[in-house]
Amino acid sequence: MSAAAIVLAINFCVAGLFATAFAVVAINARMATGARWLAMAYGFGMLNVGLELILPFQREPRLVGIGIFLAFLFALALSVVGLARNYRIELPWRVLGVLVVLAVIDIVVIIDMERSSLLRAFLYQLPYALIQLLGALVVLRAPRRQVLDLVLLAIYVLGSLQFLGKPLLAAALGTGSTAQAYIGTNYAAISQAVGAVLLIANGIMMLVIILRDTITEMRVQSATDPLSGLLNRRGFEEAAENLLASAHRDGVPMSITVADLDHFKAINDHHGHAVGDAVIKRFSQTLRDAADLGAMTVSGVILGRLGGEEFAALAPGSGANSAQLLAERVRAQFGTTNTIKEAPDLRPSASFGVAQLQDGETLHDLLRRADMALYQAKNTGRDRVCVADSKVSPKQLPASPERRQGSRRR
Ligand code: GH3
Ligand code: MG
Ligand code: MG
Repeated sequence: MSAAAIVLAINFCVAGLFATAFAVVAINARMATGARWLAMAYGFGMLNVGLELILPFQREPRLVGIGIFLAFLFALALSVVGLARNYRIELPWRVLGVLVVLAVIDIVVIIDMERSSLLRAFLYQLPYALIQLLGALVVLRAPRRQVLDLVLLAIYVLGSLQFLGKPLLAAALGTGSTAQAYIGTNYAAISQAVGAVLLIANGIMMLVIILRDTITEMRVQSATDPLSGLLNRRGFEEAAENLLASAHRDGVPMSITVADLDHFKAINDHHGHAVGDAVIKRFSQTLRDAADLGAMTVSGVILGRLGGEEFAALAPGSGANSAQLLAERVRAQFGTTNTIKEAPDLRPSASFGVAQLQDGETLHDLLRRADMALYQAKNTGRDRVCVADSKVSPKQLPASPERRQGSRRR
């Protein structure tokens, strides 16, 4: 067995391992949409190597030769598709399609050219080099590039240079007098070995990047409420604990606003659950708009949907007054704009409780004081904002605010 054949056999196993790894990721994490394309890419990689291994035994190597070329071409093209899918950037379908079509014409034209011709070798490698370059461009367009992505970019550039360098190496070492003789040459051994190193480096980087991005997305999803797009209770509490710790450390003010939609049960009962959901969405959007508008005074506000129709906004750097302004803006906005087409006469409203963080106060205590203020807003007519008395120590509060039955459970 020649050196190149041994490398090929190793490449076959490596491609198989990567195909399996990407397939396992794709099956277990539906959001990892890049993984399925990479599984297919490595599948074509296996086909390419398998055909290389059987080529020496062919009496008429033309078809298998074209198959080898195309299988590798598809492997590279599919990995670029997977890359773009993973980065959630628009696929360069047109460029990729044109490259593949030109490559198919290319192989048909050059397959019968003199094997030792430098032009043939160059035209054989050019499509591969261009597709790798396209991969590099996709990484360049990726949002929030980190070190790992830059390493992948370097691998793509090296891959492209490697393909462009191959014709020179082929001219220097010779590629064998026939297609069948190729596998026994030094050129084949070196070319396959360099290819194997790049294949492994590319595969490992892609796997790590896909896993990194999938874990990040899973973390975001587990902290996000799907209906409102705001943080859920878990995400809100995690972010709030961090902000609270820095507010205490730096001695800067911070305030929280809690909100609860008024007579929401009646909205559900009279208009149906879908309208209730639409009201929740609209309130969330109103909160978001108000927090954006208030960027001057209340920058870095975090917004959460803590339960059914209960929301919270934590505003670092804000005293009770600016938090009250934010709440008033949301209240006024929510009361004046109604875009729920299924229930045009519906005029939903919300009540708000605001509390400013006190020295040494925990998130739990801060929320409890804001809840008390909200309770006051509910009891004094709803559709209003009440501010918690900052002089009341959390220790003086009852264990849980006395609220109407079936209402808030915190
Ligand atoms: P109050 O003015 O005192 O706050 O009264 P309320 O009716 O708003 O309060 P209550 O807590 O009794 O009702 C909350 C309702 O919210 C009950 C529950 O069915 C509904 N709810 C909870 N989550 C959702 C949701 O995701 N979608 C919809 N449509 N309704 C929800
Ligand atoms: Mg309510
Ligand atoms: Mg409620």
